[in-house]
Amino acid sequence: MAGAPAYNDSKDVVRITVLGATGSIGQSLADLIERNPDRFEVVALVANSNADLLAEMARKLRAGAAILAEESRLGELTERLQGTGIEVSAGEAAVLEAVDRETDLVVGAIVGSAGLKPTMAAIRPGRRIALANKECLVCAGDLFMARVRETGAELLPVDSEHNAIFQVFEAERADQVEKVILTASGGPFRTFSKADMAGVTPEQALKHPNWDMGARITIDSASMMNKGFEVIEASHLFPVSHDQLGVLVHPQSVVHGLVQYRDGSLLAQLGSPDMRTPIAHCLAYPERMPVPVRRLDLAEISQLTFEAPDLDRFPALRIALDAMKTGSGAPAVVNAVDEIAVAAFLARQAGFMDIPAAIEAVLEQLDSENALAAVDSVEDVLALDHLARVRAAKWINSRCS
Ligand code: NDP
Repeated sequence: MAGAPAYNDSKDVVRITVLGATGSIGQSLADLIERNPDRFEVVALVANSNADLLAEMARKLRAGAAILAEESRLGELTERLQGTGIEVSAGEAAVLEAVDRETDLVVGAIVGSAGLKPTMAAIRPGRRIALANKECLVCAGDLFMARVRETGAELLPVDSEHNAIFQVFEAERADQVEKVILTASGGPFRTFSKADMAGVTPEQALKHPNWDMGARITIDSASMMNKGFEVIEASHLFPVSHDQLGVLVHPQSVVHGLVQYRDGSLLAQLGSPDMRTPIAHCLAYPERMPVPVRRLDLAEISQLTFEAPDLDRFPALRIALDAMKTGSGAPAVVNAVDEIAVAAFLARQAGFMDIPAAIEAVLEQLDSENALAAVDSVEDVLALDHLARVRAAKWINSRCS
């Protein structure tokens, strides 16, 4: 992305702070850091409540500080790290203080809108932000990108599709781009009918055919809401219009993203479905660091297939695309209701197809109350997020019990 020059030109060691260290992205990142101990210095690791894993990672990566958002777990964390010299703290202020520390790179990998404030606060002049937390762009894309531009920070996308597109998008020739295409595996229900999907269990939905990810994004992949969020992310990351953004279902998850140019060229990035590749791309950019992912053997794979997405069977994708076009608060509402509905589905309090139904119902309610109007600050976004969650919980309680 546009911004400061390559951050590691004059330094050998990259100082790194990780928001969401104990999650699926955090674990893949830790693997890369562990393999390159001389290249990285871990300034701080931040998680929500998993004191055990955070302490274990902080020891392994020799972190300067370990920080939990959940204050009640501070005692546990302190005990686990006694005698190590690793600083410990907890609470929202401590999380915000973590991004205040001198650091070259902040990885934004908190899940959900909880990531909004700390990731926004991490954007500073001369810093690189490797962004995984899609909610930052889905809920507050205009505000987030304005802050990136203002500070001249360097924003690199971790999400595999955006990272792929970033690798083949010629930023200086954006006017010569015709189309930006994100691929989608189609998830475990790619061939299911709507009626079949109404009865699926969390266990079925959690079995992603290709990727190993956190629970929420896995369910969002099964409903294709995740792809909708990704298109919204792409609309902020790349200088193209909404009509130039497309989705292609590609069950093998080998081609991650494509850019079509006006001369008919279609450039794509391919790779094994392993998040360590896009994460490493962000860590080493513009260099390439060695990553022990499975190499693609195209002769062995032999066939790559593609199909158009079905917006009727996957209404979540349609809802997200419509919300992108509506703009202002609509994408934040979709995200908030989705988060609540996914949690209800995982807790067996709602069905799989109740997820898009809840989102449409709350969107309609809030639109009729004029509550989707302009969101001008992170506080506005968080207030709307809160309201949408309350309405979503109400809708689910009344319809699904
Ligand atoms: P996980 O659920 O595996 O991990 C979430 C992380 O966020 C954990 O470290 C969790 O801590 C932390 N966290 C949650 N709430 C807070 C909070 N309030 N304050 C501080 N930390 C918090 O998620 P993933 O790693 O799968 O995903 C992270 C983000 O990256 C999401 O936005 C996702 O959409 C995106 N992403 C993920 C991909 C993947 O392959 N997993 C691919 C592309 C994007 P704790 O463990 O203590 O709860």
